[in-house]
Amino acid sequence: MTEPREQRPVTALRGVGDALAARLAVLGVETVQDLLFVLPTRYEDRTRVQPIGSLIAGGRAVVEGEVQLTEVVFRRRRQMLCRIADGSGFLTLRFFHFSSAQQQGLERGNRLRCFGEVRRGPMGLEIVHPEYRRIFDERSPLEESLTPVYPATEGVSQGKLRVLIVQALRELDSAGVRDWLPSAILAPLGLPPLREALRYVHQPPVDADLDELDAGKHPVQNRLAFEELLTHQVVMRRLRESVRTDAAWVLTDERALEARFISGLPYKLTCAQRRVLDEVGADLVRDRPMARLVQGDVGCGKTVVAAAAMARAVGSGRQAVLMAPTELLAEQHQRNLDAWFRPLGIPVVLVSGSQPARTRRSTLDAIASGEVRIAVGTHTLFQESMQFRELALVIVDEQHRFGVQQRLRLAEKGMASGRHPHQLIMTATPIPRTLAMTAYADLDVSIIDASPPGRKPVKTVVVAETRRSEVVARIDAACRNGRQAYWVCPLIEESEELQCQAAEETAAVLHEALPHLVVRLVHGRIKPREKDATMLAFKAGKIHLLVATTVIEVGVDVSNATLMVIENAERMGLAQLHQLRGRVGRGTCESSCVLLYRAPIGPLARARLNVIRDTNDGFEIARRDLELRGPGELLGTQQTGLSRMRVADLIRDANLLPRVQEAAEILLAQHPDRIAPLTTRWIGTDDRYGRIG
Ligand code: ADP
Ligand code: MG
Repeated sequence: MTEPREQRPVTALRGVGDALAARLAVLGVETVQDLLFVLPTRYEDRTRVQPIGSLIAGGRAVVEGEVQLTEVVFRRRRQMLCRIADGSGFLTLRFFHFSSAQQQGLERGNRLRCFGEVRRGPMGLEIVHPEYRRIFDERSPLEESLTPVYPATEGVSQGKLRVLIVQALRELDSAGVRDWLPSAILAPLGLPPLREALRYVHQPPVDADLDELDAGKHPVQNRLAFEELLTHQVVMRRLRESVRTDAAWVLTDERALEARFISGLPYKLTCAQRRVLDEVGADLVRDRPMARLVQGDVGCGKTVVAAAAMARAVGSGRQAVLMAPTELLAEQHQRNLDAWFRPLGIPVVLVSGSQPARTRRSTLDAIASGEVRIAVGTHTLFQESMQFRELALVIVDEQHRFGVQQRLRLAEKGMASGRHPHQLIMTATPIPRTLAMTAYADLDVSIIDASPPGRKPVKTVVVAETRRSEVVARIDAACRNGRQAYWVCPLIEESEELQCQAAEETAAVLHEALPHLVVRLVHGRIKPREKDATMLAFKAGKIHLLVATTVIEVGVDVSNATLMVIENAERMGLAQLHQLRGRVGRGTCESSCVLLYRAPIGPLARARLNVIRDTNDGFEIARRDLELRGPGELLGTQQTGLSRMRVADLIRDANLLPRVQEAAEILLAQHPDRIAPLTTRWIGTDDRYGRIG
């Protein structure tokens, strides 16, 4: 066989010259096959004529009628109005661009068949710039299938695209497009064969479920999305395999430290924690580096899972390190971990930029000699020359603060011993699982999908700033009941100085309003030692109200704090609000959160605040966030490496993903030869995937 038919260039089709081919190339269409994978964004039903009298504004419809009057008028702009009637009612066709030939074609008495969007006009219902043609025979045929509407493309009209795709569909019959998915994958899923799916999606029958098609949920669309997702998955897995050929420590935990650590905890691990820990454990006993993301909503208890993994590393005679995004969090982690590990004879050290140089030096020496088994610090430390003896495990907390660069640099740290450390990345950044599996395709993903028992959802209210005094009264009441509260001041992006100043003023005002309460302040400009002391005092219950900037956004854990007020909540992102709110509701007491906003706010800001008010579920919030913003804004496409897909939509097609994973196994193991043609079909020659080869 010569060149496979799939690879035939578009110019093989009738009516495609070099000029059109160039414009199609902009769309990513180079071969005949590519054309078939340009899928409609929606459909129109042009299979039946609707009586004009039954039209409603907002719909699209085919109508037929006789021209009663055509006139050119000036109403702000020159325009042509044509009135048609069919006995059930009349309709105005409005044209802003028209030729005199067109005008002549619309003579009184001519019969027209029109299609377009019906809207309400000054003279009743109208269609602006309808598609229309004159008909001479009432039985002139209508469309037999639903009409596809393709993505708009510069220089390639809908009509042209439709004609080309109809041509390309004929190729299907001559075996021009191969179905690369083995029946071992397709059959159990009940998905249709490729040809059937393609034909249907371009030419759905009259009785097709339009709602299902428009929602992208039809089985034929699933079939195509599945193939695309599968292709991405296998390509990324291959990429990952090529990266993971390094050696890593096998952490068999001869000292059974993990089990001892867990049995020493004051509570039982949740099933979700247990499961994730098993997944992690299975990775750690392999001689290849783990690269696993642990995702879990705020407060679900990620820290203890990480600590158990660290126990395993130390129990295997190696070292572990935890990196936190802020000093505040590093200190908190060090305290928690030390309280857990010291009884087991393993002190946990903090490496901090604010330590006196001598202390720091000796800490670093103890890490380099292997005397220290567990260290905690911020990521900035890892940019310096920190040496380990046998670093086997790196935990990165709250990954969204770390760039990929930092992750890579960190991975190099352990290489002195000739082995890569295992990496465990913990994040509460609520991206839906489905997105995570793509965004972090270089990582395995584990999800802690339940919180410890007894937690009550945080009650959230949205309150105008003008009702501040009521909110202050609420703080008073909570603190009189022995509880504690946070007051979060807004982020002022232009200036940290201004932000701190605003927080200071707020603290002063609240102090005056609540003189009998202990009110303290933390923000970025306060000295670490002082900040530390304040946080400790808050944790110990010696402070009633903690006024803070968003420094407390991540990870702070004080379970007696049950009320949080967030100022100018309308200016914050949903993920950030959710993180902030996660500081309360950590104990068994009823907690609440007050979102203060400054009126007036627009409908979108309002909708966003309502999302936070209505749900406590981080993944649901992320989903709504995506709906309200679009995925690009969530993390920045570059940052996530999220690739735009042609058919699949990660959120909509979430339910397909577990099966995609399974199918990827089959394809990689049994049909590796099919990966290349699938890659060509779905990903093309994008050099991002150059390493796949
Ligand atoms: P996050 O996942 O947000 O980092 P943390 O690890 O800080 O959450 O845990 C939140 C709180 O829940 C901590 O006070 C922790 O001690 C507690 N916790 C964790 N696991 C459990 C559990 N299985 N049962 C009860 N409390 C738990
Ligand atoms: Mg945490």
